[in-house]
Amino acid sequence: MEFETLIIGAGAAGMMCAAHAGPGVLIIDHAKAPGEKIRISGGGRCNFTNLHASPQNFISQNKHFCKSALGRYTQWDFIDLVDQHGIAWHEKTLGQLFCDHSAKEIIAMLRAEMDKAGAQLWLQTEVGEISHNGSRFSIALQREGQTRQITAGNLVVACGGKSIPKMGATGLGYQIATQFGLPVITPRPGLVPLMFSDEKFKPLAGVATPARVHAGDTSFDEAILFTHRGLSGPAVLQASSYWREGETIKINLIAGGDLMPALQGQRQTDGRKALTTVLSQHLPARLVDHLSQEIALTGNIADQSDATLAALCDHLSDWTLTPAGSEGYRTAEVTLGGVDTDALSSKTMQSKTVPGLYFIGECVDVTGWLGGYNFQWAWSSGWAAGQAIAAS
Ligand SMILES: Cc1cc2nc3c(=O)[nH]c(=O)nc-3n(C[C@H](O)[C@H](O)[C@H](O)COP(=O)(O)OP(=O)(O)OC[C@H]3O[C@@H](n4cnc5c(N)ncnc54)[C@H](O)[C@@H]3O)c2cc1C
Repeated sequence: MEFETLIIGAGAAGMMCAAHAGPGVLIIDHAKAPGEKIRISGGGRCNFTNLHASPQNFISQNKHFCKSALGRYTQWDFIDLVDQHGIAWHEKTLGQLFCDHSAKEIIAMLRAEMDKAGAQLWLQTEVGEISHNGSRFSIALQREGQTRQITAGNLVVACGGKSIPKMGATGLGYQIATQFGLPVITPRPGLVPLMFSDEKFKPLAGVATPARVHAGDTSFDEAILFTHRGLSGPAVLQASSYWREGETIKINLIAGGDLMPALQGQRQTDGRKALTTVLSQHLPARLVDHLSQEIALTGNIADQSDATLAALCDHLSDWTLTPAGSEGYRTAEVTLGGVDTDALSSKTMQSKTVPGLYFIGECVDVTGWLGGYNFQWAWSSGWAAGQAIAAS
């Protein structure tokens, strides 16, 4: 069977590409349904883009690579598409846009766009051997118990990263890149909870508090959440993408307000109150209890000198922790690293060395922050490859 274009992976990027790549498109996936990660994303409501999406919100060895695709297919273009399909949406926080009703509406929209373009979708299809004769790709596909040999002028690799293997993530994109001689930046889990070896936060499981979390040279102001295994919550997930094994993270537990003058004031008005009681007005009580095992929090607030209060504030604003590891691909929302962008055209996502070979979405070394940025990269890179294929 002959096709103009074969797209491997009917996820966010692959479906977007199929809708724009012109005639003769076959898109395949080994899953039973397309867009499974879209379906479960954003708690079932899909955080489909971010009003503030810009290249600064992406991690890549080449921070300039994402500019072209993001600049030519923007969040506003995707919002237009969502509006054309009558999907109701709202901004939740920090520019994050969610469906009012269900993420399934985004999948239905992409399927409708693919149908309009005449793309064929084969599900429960496994990829076998791939070869290239200089002008066309030959791919063995296993479907319904049979092997079908197909050829295509363009091969678009859109099979995502390694995150959440239970949902069908395989890392096939990296294998295909390696087969064709494209370098791959070592993949690692991103947007992932961090764990601590001694289960020291177990008694705090369920406690959440606003904080500023620093990892590497980047920091995020959002909530942190203590879990049975360690730390999660948006600020920790964001920071995890900048954290490397063995490094520390620093947490400012009092970034939201000026604690020192507040404590000095309470020393005048509430002098007889225990220091832990006063602190519990500013931080969750269970967290104060935990901190009292690290630093002396004894006596009444009236007993505390300025120097003691200042040392306390220093500790709370520079709480330094060494995670034992992350929860890994089992729970990571994304995979950092991937196909080296040096090997791809930023305008078309096409390989610089193998004509007709494209990589889009999460399998490329471009990873977004939490908040709708990863889907925006999938839409933008999928569109960039699609329109380049249609134009050729
Ligand atoms: C729980 C969770 C929630 C998320 N929520 C959000 C959110 O709200 N907003 C946001 O921006 N991002 C979110 N993300 C990240 C986002 O889902 C991904 O970045 C995005 O789906 C990547 O798109 P993609 O098309 O590159 O890959 P995917 O959407 O993962 O699609 C890849 C497709 O390839 C198929 N595939 C894989 N291997 C093979 C193979 N060997 N053979 C055939 N097919 C294969 C898969 O079945 C899949 O359908 C979330 C991720 C997770 C895990």
